[in-house]
Amino acid sequence: MSDLIKLLPDHVANQIAAGEVVQRPASVVKELLENAVDAGATKIVLTVKDSGKSLIQVVDNGCGMSAADARASFLRHATSKISSADDLYKLHTMGFRGEALASICAIAHVQLKTRRVGDELGTEINNEGSDVKSQEPVLCPEGTSVSVRNLFYNVPARRNFLSKDLTEYRHILEEFMRVALVHPDVAMNFINNDEDVFLLPIQQRRQRIVSIFGSSFNERLVPIEEETDIVKISGFVTKPEFAKTGRDLQYFFVNNRFFRDRYLGHAISAAYEGLVQSNKFPGYFIYLEVDPSAIDVNVHPTKTEIKFQDNQTIYAFLRSTIRQSLGKFNIAPSLDFARETTFDHIKMDLSRPVVMPEIKVNPKFNPFEATQSTTASGSLTKVDERETSVPNQDLWIEREHVTIASAMNEEIATEMKKPVQLQQKYILKEMRSGFILIDQYRAHVRILFDEFVRSEKAQVATQKLIFPEVLTYDVSDLVWEEVAGMLNTSGFELKIYKGEIEIIGVPQCAGDKNPKTMLNEIVDDYRSSLVDSDLDLQSSLCLAMARSLAIRGGKSLSSVEMSDLIEKLFACQSPHIASDGKKVIVKFELSELTQRFD
Ligand code: ADP
Ligand code: MG
Repeated sequence: MSDLIKLLPDHVANQIAAGEVVQRPASVVKELLENAVDAGATKIVLTVKDSGKSLIQVVDNGCGMSAADARASFLRHATSKISSADDLYKLHTMGFRGEALASICAIAHVQLKTRRVGDELGTEINNEGSDVKSQEPVLCPEGTSVSVRNLFYNVPARRNFLSKDLTEYRHILEEFMRVALVHPDVAMNFINNDEDVFLLPIQQRRQRIVSIFGSSFNERLVPIEEETDIVKISGFVTKPEFAKTGRDLQYFFVNNRFFRDRYLGHAISAAYEGLVQSNKFPGYFIYLEVDPSAIDVNVHPTKTEIKFQDNQTIYAFLRSTIRQSLGKFNIAPSLDFARETTFDHIKMDLSRPVVMPEIKVNPKFNPFEATQSTTASGSLTKVDERETSVPNQDLWIEREHVTIASAMNEEIATEMKKPVQLQQKYILKEMRSGFILIDQYRAHVRILFDEFVRSEKAQVATQKLIFPEVLTYDVSDLVWEEVAGMLNTSGFELKIYKGEIEIIGVPQCAGDKNPKTMLNEIVDDYRSSLVDSDLDLQSSLCLAMARSLAIRGGKSLSSVEMSDLIEKLFACQSPHIASDGKKVIVKFELSELTQRFD
């Protein structure tokens, strides 16, 4: 028999790798912008058409490439930024894997025009799905222009699964903003479908934030500035009174790269303790500078998670710095700084051996996800708890027909014992083979989400308010109209005027929850999920509604309510998994328990 193992042809390998690097048009935008920054550009222009599906172009005035380098730049693992594994730990540049251009080329039509500073002629290369179609000298400006057309033309599965244009556009916008926020020293323009979205000149960091988020931001910002041996912190946080229900204004950067870190995010919440309600989140733009060898940015292919060696020290430092800045700017005059000296006593010992941080990085972590946290450290659970009012009891009384399919469901159905609530957060249900714990908030979100998604066709019942309420919104913020329009078919009855929304009716299951709070929460949550989830618009809205209406942790439930919740949960198609992939149910086997007593 002949041998079976073959090496994949290059273009296939490239296509597979492309799946990691290029998930959506925004990934291309990110890679191209980062390359332009790495090339030392002082001006970058991003042009996008049809949310990146027909064109993504990045033009920079950076160092440009020679003809040979231009050709090589499309090869996998072609990078001018590292030459040995050691270099990986000293990096200050954005890119380093040398895969971006190769990956993009594998799944699109790419044109590169580039001229080195001082060269007379530049080079133009046209690529189609990893094949170089042409290469010739051209007259072109100094710097580099990369145009990506027909993205995913040869990966129909990807192309068909792209979200609606608005969602893809939002992702692109977010990538642009992340780069713009760290490079105020680079002029950056963003042109979308021939319209100027941003024309940002070279400016100071504060001006850049204000140019991006609007002039009202200037008065909201409190500067942060502190330095120790291991980390330099700078940036801004928003004053407590501007805290919002969504987490969409939270930006962490380390060595000029955007990243997410729930643990350090908690340090910031901790600094605001007592200054904002537990369901509100401050905005922040925090820039950390650390020795590149003290972090590992290679955790994730798209590099938004980072491992710090000194996580805990940075946590303590960040919290005390922000707490003090809030105090200094007279925002928290009654703070007791005597308690905030812990950090001063932390001695840096740079000679000690490197230890792994205790908090593990969760590669699936989504900072915008609003369910209760089960992070590695028990003390973190508090951040995510939203303890606001809950829908009324009616919800629990109306029962619906349940088809019980799996063996587990049968076990539950035949089980007579009453469920027990733990910590007003989990429901414990005994079963023949052990017991299960159900996260009550996630379970209810699951139930409501399914209900809302189903009812797209069959309408959610509306209850009219006795006194309609009017809510004002910022007309330039397009999300409001978009959400209000969609909510009208999801149990709400809203009249939309310029800048005002009249709330006439709300979904019946909303009970006596404050209608304005609800609408605000839904809009904020929807906005966050657009930036960071793969759901389509309608589903994002259903999820936002479900999260706003679901019972939170901290609410006591009667055994009838719990049984009802369990029944409804198991009537869902996937009761075990929340819509964001997290666990709703954890099962404990009897054998496991027996072992524990050994
Ligand atoms: P990486 O950025 O990880 O090195 P890329 O595939 O993004 O890998 O780019 C490959 C190489 O092409 C880079 O290392 C750089 O030398 C060159 N390159 C890419 N984009 C530009 C640009 N805009 N200007 C100059 N050189 C570039
Ligand atoms: Mg790159």
